[in-house]
Amino acid sequence: MTLRPDEISALIKQQIKQFDSVIEQKDVGTVVTVGDGVSVIHGLENAMLGELVEFPNNVFGMVMNLDEDSIGVTLLGDDKAIREGDEVSRTGRIIEVPVGDQLLGRVVNPLGQAIDGFGEISFAKTRPIERIAPGVMTRKSVDQPLQTGITTIDAIIPIGRGQRELIIGDRQTGKTAIAVDTILNQKGQNIYCIYVAIGQKNSTVAQVVERFRKGGAMEYTTVVSASASELAPVQYIAPYAGCAIAEEWLDEGKDVLIVYDDLSKHAVAYRTVSLLLKRPPGREAYPGDVFYLHSRLLERSCRLNAENGGGSITALPIIETQAGDISAYIPTNVISITDGQIFLQQELFNSGFRPAIDTGLSVSRVGSSAQIKAMKQVSSSLKLELAQYEEMQAFAQFGSDLDAATQATIDHGEKVREVLKQAQYAPRSVAEQVITLFALKYGFTKTIKTDKVQAFMTGLMENINMTHPEFIDEIVEKKVLSDDLIKAMKAAMTDYVTQFQRLQEKG
Ligand code: ATP
Ligand code: MG
Repeated sequence: MTLRPDEISALIKQQIKQFDSVIEQKDVGTVVTVGDGVSVIHGLENAMLGELVEFPNNVFGMVMNLDEDSIGVTLLGDDKAIREGDEVSRTGRIIEVPVGDQLLGRVVNPLGQAIDGFGEISFAKTRPIERIAPGVMTRKSVDQPLQTGITTIDAIIPIGRGQRELIIGDRQTGKTAIAVDTILNQKGQNIYCIYVAIGQKNSTVAQVVERFRKGGAMEYTTVVSASASELAPVQYIAPYAGCAIAEEWLDEGKDVLIVYDDLSKHAVAYRTVSLLLKRPPGREAYPGDVFYLHSRLLERSCRLNAENGGGSITALPIIETQAGDISAYIPTNVISITDGQIFLQQELFNSGFRPAIDTGLSVSRVGSSAQIKAMKQVSSSLKLELAQYEEMQAFAQFGSDLDAATQATIDHGEKVREVLKQAQYAPRSVAEQVITLFALKYGFTKTIKTDKVQAFMTGLMENINMTHPEFIDEIVEKKVLSDDLIKAMKAAMTDYVTQFQRLQEKG
């Protein structure tokens, strides 16, 4: 046999040429350990943080730890099918969700797969679930109201489009109810809504979806659900996925409302993931970057200026407290990132004052600049009146004789509270809110007994709807109470008070 050096050298040259691509193809790692939804992988030195990696049997994972000679991955599927020694390959993609109008009316998991039984969603576009929040120069301050339909909130703790307002309270105090009512109230307001359920019971989420369907809210709403039965990493990515869906609409210049129900469970899911990945635990065993977990999420809510499309994302994160303790770790973190909070109190809830909003501890730092003028005219003194009422009430409990002024303050406060009581799924329009608060402000409830105040307000609204619909039109159009309108409304209300008194005497 003769040696043919030229052929051999040609072969070697060819091999050297392809050296790079050979290495590229070999970018696979092996599973070192797997269990509890996390896996440590040897190899894959080039993997990126947050990258999707593929295991056998179509299971995907997300890269969370980049160590010196291994990487830590959380699994987004069943880990039972994975064995030590299995091959893992990079996908080169950061984890993404489908976005766009096809998601309206659908219930999806954080990966964008339909879970409502209405078949697969055909989508044209996806987005990475993480994005850097819009910068300072692209934003503007809130100037348009987001009406919740709940009088206490719209009057005292108003929310503007692009604001982040925390809903905080113990379990079973009506947190979800406020968020659901707010979404239901966006019908016809040209706002897209996203409800992100994190770590909740499937049955609870099903009830909420049913509510949206009944109220016709699914037309403009997407529900992203990572229920309590999902793996911690899936719960962890849920709010980011929801936010990415919102950002698609934001970039189209639309107004979006997103509810994160709730971020306490989200923090717990993240703690689970972190501990499994052997990250060092800090206070309450949360990892050191738990603040960043929520700050980078909530910073993505914004009001963009006209050059950037003028869209907005309003966020209503929910936090569950233990025994009303709003100074615990996660609650204080989220309070400091949001533009205010709506604090719900167990005692108020149990005493029948619902929605159980503690107006003393609740605040909205930016929303009042978005409130319509008419609302400001009738609501500016409410918070003070309620505070005075509570203070005097404490005195009155001792049963001592009260002077007339104190008695009047208490009496008025009780009537204000009566008006602020509101059932679930009974949103009030701005005009209705303005008219009822107007009646309070100008003392038309003075002669009405406290337990008749609600009946009086219902009757008053009916009366005005029938006899003076022009009041409502003017409030809606002009958004301000002119002197003439105030005069006319006073006259109409004086008439109605007499009418109501007469009805009461008869019945
Ligand atoms: P969880 O901590 O379990 O998530 P939550 O704080 O979200 O509870 P909800 O589920 O919204 O509370 O409400 C608890 C209960 O109170 C529900 O049965 C709901 O129907 C009732 N509820 C909420 N708001 C009102 C209201 N304004 N009027 C009457 N009932 C209400
Ligand atoms: Mg709830």
